Amino acid sequence: MRRKIVVGNWKMNNTIAESIELATEIAEKAGSDGVTCEVGIAPAFPALYEVGKVIEWSGVKLAAQNCHYENDGAFTGEVSTRMLAAAGCNYVIIGHSERRQLFGETNATVNLKVKKALAEGLRVILCVGETLDERERGVTGEIVTAQVVEGLADVSDISNLVIAYEPVWAIGTGKTATKEQAQEVHAMIRARVAKLYDQKTADHLRIQYGGSVKPSNAVELFAMPDIDGGLIGGASLKADDFMAIVEAAG
Ligand code: PEP
Repeated sequence: MRRKIVVGNWKMNNTIAESIELATEIAEKAGSDGVTCEVGIAPAFPALYEVGKVIEWSGVKLAAQNCHYENDGAFTGEVSTRMLAAAGCNYVIIGHSERRQLFGETNATVNLKVKKALAEGLRVILCVGETLDERERGVTGEIVTAQVVEGLADVSDISNLVIAYEPVWAIGTGKTATKEQAQEVHAMIRARVAKLYDQKTADHLRIQYGGSVKPSNAVELFAMPDIDGGLIGGASLKADDFMAIVEAAG
């Protein structure tokens, strides 16, 4: 039985003070409401350390939104996994479609980051997903498979890794994949992971869905057999909406 996981990706939103306020509200609800799924939040870098301190007691996990694959050095503007671990992060999101589309991340750089983060002892949320054009051209399977296979190249142990399937056309657009569309890709990812590793590893792997998840559609998405929770953008910026999604995951 896989424990569902719901993580809020706050993207480039919230000052330190705003982050502390939102995190405190989420921690109070997640820490006291009989929530059984794993809950995480991913504030922007400047707020990570302070948010970590206010959620520590609650079991809510701290996630970063990106990392670099070197320890330190002349990489202006970047943050290493060593720094994230020292700041209290449990998870790091790697390969989000905004990173791939706006900042030129490739499957190769994603793979370097995945290996570095796991070696640092961080848990990884590896994001994959096709664009609208790719879906319309019928190459969703190929694209997502390449993202999984190349993103996991030379990664021998994925017990600390979660995959987030996020169709790019559904992120921040209000268009959600239907539960059947999402389930189909999740099942395909799990089958591919079984080929790459083994069936037991695939059965244990948690695969989140992301893309305009809201309180109104979370229950039906999370009820699908291969959907193990969600990576939530817009709806994670309001504690009530986020917690309604968390509750939908159990
Ligand atoms: C995301 O950015 O990971 C995401 C799923 O965003 P939204 O929920 O806003 O579509």
